[in-house]
Amino acid sequence: MNAQAQHRQDASRQLHRVMEERALATVFQPIFSFREGRITGYEALVRGPRGSLLQTPAELFAAAAQEGLAVELNVLCIQQMLTAFAASRLEGSLFLNVSPRLIVQRRHDQERAARYMASVGLAAERVVIELTEDYPTADFAQVHESLMLYRSLGFRIAIDDLGEGFSSLRLWSELRPEYVKADKHFVTGLSDDPVKAQFLRAIQHIAENCGSLVIAEGIENAADFKMVKDIGIACGQGWFIGRPAETPAANLTDEARIANEDARVPVVPTPRLRAGTEPHAHDFIRAVEAAASDATLGALLDRFAASPGLASIPIAGAHGVEGLVSREWLDLAAASPEREALARRPAIEFADRAPIRVEASLDLAALTAILVESDARRFADGFVIVSGGRYLGMGASRDVMRSLQSSRVLAARYTNPLTLLPGQVPINEHLERLLARHVPFTAWFVEVDQMRGLNDTAGFAKGDTLIHATARLLEEACEPGIDFAGHVAGGRFVVLAQSEDWRARAERLLEGFPALVREHVPAEAYERGYFVVRFRDGRESVRPLPKLIVGIVPVLPGVFERRPEVVAAAKRAAEAAKAHPASAIHVDEQHGNAYPQSLLFG
Ligand code: C2E
Ligand code: MG
Ligand code: MG
Repeated sequence: MNAQAQHRQDASRQLHRVMEERALATVFQPIFSFREGRITGYEALVRGPRGSLLQTPAELFAAAAQEGLAVELNVLCIQQMLTAFAASRLEGSLFLNVSPRLIVQRRHDQERAARYMASVGLAAERVVIELTEDYPTADFAQVHESLMLYRSLGFRIAIDDLGEGFSSLRLWSELRPEYVKADKHFVTGLSDDPVKAQFLRAIQHIAENCGSLVIAEGIENAADFKMVKDIGIACGQGWFIGRPAETPAANLTDEARIANEDARVPVVPTPRLRAGTEPHAHDFIRAVEAAASDATLGALLDRFAASPGLASIPIAGAHGVEGLVSREWLDLAAASPEREALARRPAIEFADRAPIRVEASLDLAALTAILVESDARRFADGFVIVSGGRYLGMGASRDVMRSLQSSRVLAARYTNPLTLLPGQVPINEHLERLLARHVPFTAWFVEVDQMRGLNDTAGFAKGDTLIHATARLLEEACEPGIDFAGHVAGGRFVVLAQSEDWRARAERLLEGFPALVREHVPAEAYERGYFVVRFRDGRESVRPLPKLIVGIVPVLPGVFERRPEVVAAAKRAAEAAKAHPASAIHVDEQHGNAYPQSLLFG
């Protein structure tokens, strides 16, 4: 017998003993209500004998399924859990994991369940049935019908592990449960995963519209806790809030309490531009069969008439594509008195002999540049895609423009491609959120000023590395998850800081800048203290070294109504800092009465 089979046999032997002896323990894990600010319920979880093959619920239920005893095991668990919960005197609701197969099988047992509850002294109103997803919901109608009976007795319903496994969205829309439990997959690590955050936001959005409360499972740290709360989710569960235990805590741990009391708005992760995901010419290939060199115009006009989306047809001979016939000829020929005669002539006579022709491997940026440079008719005809001279298919300019719209341009507004910091869109969104939530913060406008000397003498690539290094310095100055750094464009940045020690952080930023200048400016200019730019006609001119200017406006709740006012005030503060000959910080005095002095660094 192999090891696996042996293991299975041992497990099944242990299972029978465990079930006979009822050697099961119940642990309870707290569920925290963000709205009420306290623990409002507990999920009951089964544990097999410690150190056995059946210690975890997964092992237990796998062995039970093997033996066809899953439903019996579930019933046993529920009875023990109800008894243990009643005896524990824990307050709030009890969340019970129930398999839909049990719900269906025991369709007429609702009354019995109610009697059992009464015998242990628990009201049905205190129990939430968590429908676990260990099933493809074949008997959906039966599950539904049976649950409605339980509901009529006062039980409430939750869908467990939403987003995992089978058809829980359908279940959600049709059952209208009181709770949905968003699966750990979407929660654990959510604070630095923009996709998870978006999913959870979507789940919350649906919940708001159909009257369910969301419980986020698997909250393991403070950052995820704060993000879940910020999204507006009703309840949370996870190790950070409380581990499953036989006698669980009735209150939050200290660290969870501190996280809960933190009123600051967490920084939402922004989607980052992924390198290497942009399309190439071959991604735009549309299969358009090339016509033979001796094809008549009439044959091509028939093809145009038959397919309205066809913009042009290439003509290919022994040496590849010889020309491109435009759809325009359909109208031109129809309007001509010599239509019949035209149709009999060789199509090649009507072809553009130098159409736009690109290699399949050409990237989006280069392809766009070619299309933008071409004349309007060729743009409309589209481009011939070849590989080593061989015709592969046609590309439509429209497809390229659409793709450009959704990738590069949009991506740059979300993420600056040079520094990978959030771009204009997330900057605006975060600023809106801070204003809407009426929290105090400081808005910084940061600019690497006097870049011309470096760009003119050492080239833009060198200038870019200084900007890149400044972005990293900016990130270091920020408190992770609390302060937000964004890159507007060029050498201009915005910081939205909720940390109380913002002043010290700004000073650190300014103090760190000279080292970057030393590193990125050519030694000769650095030592001299300025650049000497030589023009082609022999003239020379002097330019200063780059400096960093920081304009800060403290934003107290209620002072600014709208986003542009904040940005304008921060820019004005930056202008004031710019007036200083060296790197400087200027704090807006007018709005910053709480922080009256302005700081200057020489
Ligand atoms: P579930 O109902 O989704 O229960 C939550 C699971 O996540 C539990 O695992 C819990 O210990 C774990 N968990 C809680 N907080 C965290 C966290 O912050 N991070 C991570 N990574 N995990 C966390 P457990 O106890 O092993 O239970 C696993 C599954 O077994 C349950 O998933 C449930 O589907 C099933 N189960 C447990 N007890 C019973 C039962 O009595 N009856 C039935 N039918 N199923 C049960
Ligand atoms: Mg559960
Ligand atoms: Mg779950």
